[in-house]
Amino acid sequence: MIKISRTGIEQYLKCKRCFILQYKHRVKVPMLPFTLNIAVDNLAKNEFDYFREKQEPHPLFLENNIDAVPFMHPSMDKWRDFRKGGISYANESDGYHFWGAIDDVWMKPNGELIISDVKATSRKEFNWDKTWSENDYPKAYKRQLEMYQWLFRKNGFTVSNKAYLVYYNGLKNEPMFNQALKFELHLVELQCNDEWVEDALIKAKDLMASDEFPGGSKNCDTCQYLKKRWNVNKVIE
Ligand code: SF4
Repeated sequence: MIKISRTGIEQYLKCKRCFILQYKHRVKVPMLPFTLNIAVDNLAKNEFDYFREKQEPHPLFLENNIDAVPFMHPSMDKWRDFRKGGISYANESDGYHFWGAIDDVWMKPNGELIISDVKATSRKEFNWDKTWSENDYPKAYKRQLEMYQWLFRKNGFTVSNKAYLVYYNGLKNEPMFNQALKFELHLVELQCNDEWVEDALIKAKDLMASDEFPGGSKNCDTCQYLKKRWNVNKVIE
C-alpha cells in the first residue's frame, strides 16, 4: 500500500521528478513555514467554530446567499489536522492510501456538503478573475478542493460540486499599524470536477512503485537556478 498525500499529487502534477525526489527518496527543497498564513488559517478556524458550535450560518454565508452552516461532525478535528492523518481513503485493490487535511466543510439543509479552504494574500486590489487568468496557482487551489471533494465522496458523503475559497486580503496601506493587521474578506466560488483525481492517484502510485526517474520541468525556477549554480561550480572548480 503506497501512502500519498494531497500535496504529493499536486507535486506529481507539477513535476514528476520533484515528486519522486520528495516522496520516494525524501529529498526536499527547503522551505520556510508560512507562519502568517498559518495564523490566518487558525483565526478563521476559531471564528467558523464559533458558528459551528451554535449551528448558525457564518455572516459570510448570509451575505452570499449560501444556505448552510459549518458542518458538525465528530471527525472534524481529525480531518483538519495533518498530524492526525486528515481525511483519507484506502484502496486495497489499487494499492494506495490517499489523504489530505481540509480547512472546513459546510452543510446545506439537504445534508450536501460544501468544501472550503482559507487563503491569505495581500494585494492592493483583489481581483480573482485577473489572478485566475494570469497565474497557475489558482488552478492548484481548485485542484486542492477537488481532491478534498473526492475524499469526502469516497467516505460516503454527498458533496456539492460548488466549493469556496475564503480569501483574506491583508491591507498594507493603512496609515497606522498599531500591531493590528486588517483584512478584507472575499468569497470565491468555484465550480469543481473531481473526475481526474483517481486517474492521477493511480499514475502517481505506479510511478512511485517503478524504478523510473522522470525528467524535471523546463519552466521550474528552482531547477533553472540549480542548473546555473552547477554550471558556475564547474567553471570555478
Ligand atoms: S524542475 Fe527540478 S526543482 Fe523544479 S520541481 Fe522539478 S525536480 Fe523540482
